[in-house]
Amino acid sequence: MSHVPAKSHVAGFRVAASRPQALAMACVALLLPTAVARAQLTPQQAKRIEAAVPTKARVAPKQARRVLIWNTPFMEQSPHKGYTIPQSEYAMRLLGEKTGAFEPVVSDDVAMYLPENLKKFDAILLNNSNGPWIRPTPQDMDKFKSYGSDIDAVEKLLRQSFLDYVANGGGLFAFHHAIGVPKWPEFLDLLGAGYWGHPWNEEVAIKLDEPDHPLVAAFGGRDFRLAEEIFQFNDPYSREKVRVLLSLDTTKTNMTVPWIHRKDNDFALAWIKSYGKGRVFYSAIGHRTEIWWNPQILSFYLDALQFAVGDLPADTTPSAQVPKDEAAKGDTHE
Ligand SMILES: [Zn+2]
Repeated sequence: MSHVPAKSHVAGFRVAASRPQALAMACVALLLPTAVARAQLTPQQAKRIEAAVPTKARVAPKQARRVLIWNTPFMEQSPHKGYTIPQSEYAMRLLGEKTGAFEPVVSDDVAMYLPENLKKFDAILLNNSNGPWIRPTPQDMDKFKSYGSDIDAVEKLLRQSFLDYVANGGGLFAFHHAIGVPKWPEFLDLLGAGYWGHPWNEEVAIKLDEPDHPLVAAFGGRDFRLAEEIFQFNDPYSREKVRVLLSLDTTKTNMTVPWIHRKDNDFALAWIKSYGKGRVFYSAIGHRTEIWWNPQILSFYLDALQFAVGDLPADTTPSAQVPKDEAAKGDTHE
């Protein structure tokens, strides 16, 4: 039972209901078809994640940090619900707990997005949370009594609260299908791109756009190969707006797969940007289960979380505005 993930609790927050404990899961696994049994964090997976999480953060936190790990309240409709969200939640929590870089708080309660709750966090982590998750359900409306009974009005308020939180200096860390939020163009502007399908689900070649940028230190200056579901992006993506960290190396990747829509060969996979006074990190990587015990990806994500909370400085000047010689030598001025 030592590998049963324990939720972090913070007084005053309602955190997500606990998943079945490991013992219960093991019993259920004997009774259910394999597909269902596989759809949870197993003790074996937990062990692999624990072994792969870095023991030390890149930089010491300047102060105690707290990160909201946001799991969609519509988990049952999530295409990533079983094989990746529980594993990534555990990995992301451990990044904070094992290194002391931040205190994780896991929640799927949309009331977290009220300004008075968000102000208790240094960053929000969107854990593959696609869908209209910021719209309260009729049952949620009990929590918003003081804001009236109009769901549209409360959703509008929560959306603005989320955007204001980042613009006023908060951090945002999002990966993979977190970008799949419908009918919210301001959210895509905040993240820096729109989702445009996933032409690849195989091993691809990924290059470091700036090998000396502080946020790709986890890769030791070396390009790498990864078997993963690989997204492509469309508007508002532009190198005029984001600082690209990783992108597809199209010279070493199978470019004969169907559904490649981009004509410019610019398949960015991870980037950072500023949003007002806030810091935004997005990475497409986060589909396959084994990503969550890949030590390099975990180290990359811990660095990005330290950037998001404000501890690890990194230049967010958009890629197109970085002088070529500066990009080559990896100037890291703030
Ligand atoms: Zn996926």
